Amino acid sequence: GSESPVDPLLLGALSEEKLRLDHTNNYVLKKKLQVWCRLPDDEWGLGEIQSISGNNANILLPEGRALTVLVENLLPSNPQVLDGVDDLIQLSYLNEPSVLHSLKCRYVHDIVYTKAGPVLVAINPFKEVPLYGDDYIAAYREKTTDNPHVYAIADSAFNGMMRDGVNQSIIISGESGAGKTETAKIAMQYLAALGGGSGIEYELLQTNPILEAFGNAKTLRNDNSSRFGKLIDIHFSTSARICGAKIQTFLLEKSRVVQRAKGERSYHVFYQLCAGAPASLREKLNLKAANNYEYLKQSDCLIIDNVDDALRFHKLTDALDIVRVSKEDQESVFAMLAAVLWLGNIEYLVIDNENHVEVISSEAVTNVAKLMGCKVPDLMLTLSTHKIQAGNDVVIQKLTLPQAISTRDALAKSIYSSLFDCLVEQINRSLEVGKLRTGRFISILDIYGFESYDKNSFEQFCINYANERLQQHFNRHLFKLEQEEYIQDGIDWTKVEFVDNNECLNLFEKKPLGLLSLLDEELTFPKATDLTLANKLKQHLIGNHCFKGEREGAFRICHCAGEVLYETNGFLEKNGDPLHSDSIQLLLSCNCQLPQLCAARLLNQSQNPVSPFWRLGSVESQKHSVATKFKGQLFNLMQRLEGTTPHFIRCIKPNSKQLPGIYENDLVLQQLRCCGVLEVVRISRSGYPSRMTHQQFAERYGFLLLEDVQFQDPLSVSVAILQQFNILPEMYQVGYTKLFFRTGQIAALEDIRNHT
Ligand code: ATP
Ligand code: MG
Repeated sequence: GSESPVDPLLLGALSEEKLRLDHTNNYVLKKKLQVWCRLPDDEWGLGEIQSISGNNANILLPEGRALTVLVENLLPSNPQVLDGVDDLIQLSYLNEPSVLHSLKCRYVHDIVYTKAGPVLVAINPFKEVPLYGDDYIAAYREKTTDNPHVYAIADSAFNGMMRDGVNQSIIISGESGAGKTETAKIAMQYLAALGGGSGIEYELLQTNPILEAFGNAKTLRNDNSSRFGKLIDIHFSTSARICGAKIQTFLLEKSRVVQRAKGERSYHVFYQLCAGAPASLREKLNLKAANNYEYLKQSDCLIIDNVDDALRFHKLTDALDIVRVSKEDQESVFAMLAAVLWLGNIEYLVIDNENHVEVISSEAVTNVAKLMGCKVPDLMLTLSTHKIQAGNDVVIQKLTLPQAISTRDALAKSIYSSLFDCLVEQINRSLEVGKLRTGRFISILDIYGFESYDKNSFEQFCINYANERLQQHFNRHLFKLEQEEYIQDGIDWTKVEFVDNNECLNLFEKKPLGLLSLLDEELTFPKATDLTLANKLKQHLIGNHCFKGEREGAFRICHCAGEVLYETNGFLEKNGDPLHSDSIQLLLSCNCQLPQLCAARLLNQSQNPVSPFWRLGSVESQKHSVATKFKGQLFNLMQRLEGTTPHFIRCIKPNSKQLPGIYENDLVLQQLRCCGVLEVVRISRSGYPSRMTHQQFAERYGFLLLEDVQFQDPLSVSVAILQQFNILPEMYQVGYTKLFFRTGQIAALEDIRNHT
């Protein structure tokens, strides 16, 4: 026609995420552009606007169905050329349905990786996908492909480290079952291939089955759920060979050893041991099948589909051999595991009407004593009585049934968690960074993602606190990275202030009136209960924007990923993590090395006592609470990550069934929101999300020019295109190497291109 193909004003209006129908009405109608339309079932469907009257739009859906919806239920969709782009930042419209659609387009073709700007989004395929192995590794190494991939991330970390001499980190997050641990292994495999040669890479890879046996369990969400956080530093020599590694673990969920939800299991290693131990070992440890142990059978789940625990046991011992844990040490570890199992079978007899108990002498008692190397009477006394220092005298008080059970369980939990720590220490000794140390390393962080369930307790409290810390790190770096690119390419750029989560972090960390301080303070009050704790929190924190009081015994925190309701039930005990000092004495009295080692560890980190009952037991060890210790670990982690160049991977779980081929929009969306992917996308929208090199731009749109530019350089061609189409100056910037465009601009140019 006679009119210019695109009215620049309209381009500006299109850059809004919401359809501004007052401006774009005619344009959208005339062009019959596709829009996302929120359907009555709350899903988004693609449709075409037929007409608009007032606030209502008549939409034609693909199957010929017509629908009238409010215009506020419409969002612009992207031109088809952008379907399934490998970087979401290339989308002209970064709204939720467009992002979901884009990821899905790829997922159905088994393309599970997509970039969201600097972040790699990884959607769990729940099946083997042909994306891994030597050929793929070679392709990324030789850079013959640039498809988004964990390999590409590991490759750029490796190159960044070698080229700039700056340590790197790969930070993997996502909710349970999203694929963090698998992703971490894939990254490790790539690095092992690149930095292999010294042989230590085999040891490094074998740490995975060991950590998984001892630290992973079947949960309702994931058959192989990691119940701890882990940071692995992989060190490289000057010749870029792996020369050692160091593993740090965070907050193992030890309550799982003694109880958990129905349908879940305790740590894999228990079942592996019961199923796979050879006859001689079974005899030595008095091992029975798993269903004989209370601690294992209580949750009605002893096996995992398609998993052979006996076979896994052999893999575990092979791995332990490879990281050079001696057969003798392995046997001591298994003996401690067996002791834990037998502890759970110890029973009590109530001996008076005040519910006081004695231990019933049984096979379980003799086995525990034998396995730990302590005396049977000592064990029975420790598990049923409590020594109290009264002046110069020691008074022995009988425990009630609940007290006795928690004493027994606390011992089992402590033994297990210190065993886990000992093992990690042993692995670290084997992988110790040798003489070739250069100080160059790549850290891989596989840490629990944000959690929000119907009932949230102390575990979620700690996990979500960790996520706030990580989110802060994430924000800072993404804003920084994003803005650095503009500055590097020399464009005009006023720094964008970003939404930070400092207020929420403050809520946790402020002294003396933050959540953590108040929690610890409550531990020092003999009469404190979980209810008084909840009241105290309300009393002091109610003014904070991120805190909301709730019904009795509960409170809410407004996390950056959403509001979470916590119930204080169990907070005090879990934070205080009491272990009867008599139990530590018992471990110290053992004539085996491992219990003593455990005892030494426990003495070192023994926690605050909680109730008067615990208090009296361990006044000598006024140490840090679990939350405060965790905070220290997190600070240390953040400090270490700060010194590295970060690479972020966000894992996404496409469905809750752990099945391939199912993509649930709502579930994906909720995770994208939680882990901040949409936030990154939003940040990008405030800048210039689309970028093309001068060359790319000239090649794609040069033919639209009226004048002949065949012999001009790409920059001149690009400028000519911008001028011919009257693209508003505020819609783009010309950098040294690239053109940067505001949201929507490329879509508009594509439209011109398609209609020419
Ligand atoms: P948690 O927080 O519970 O530890 P996670 O995020 O570590 O969960 P993973 O254990 O890594 O989750 O993944 C869960 C399961 O999903 C794996 O056991 C595996 O079956 C499958 N899976 C994950 N990633 C992949 C992948 N890239 N290819 C094939 N299967 C995968
Ligand atoms: Mg995991």
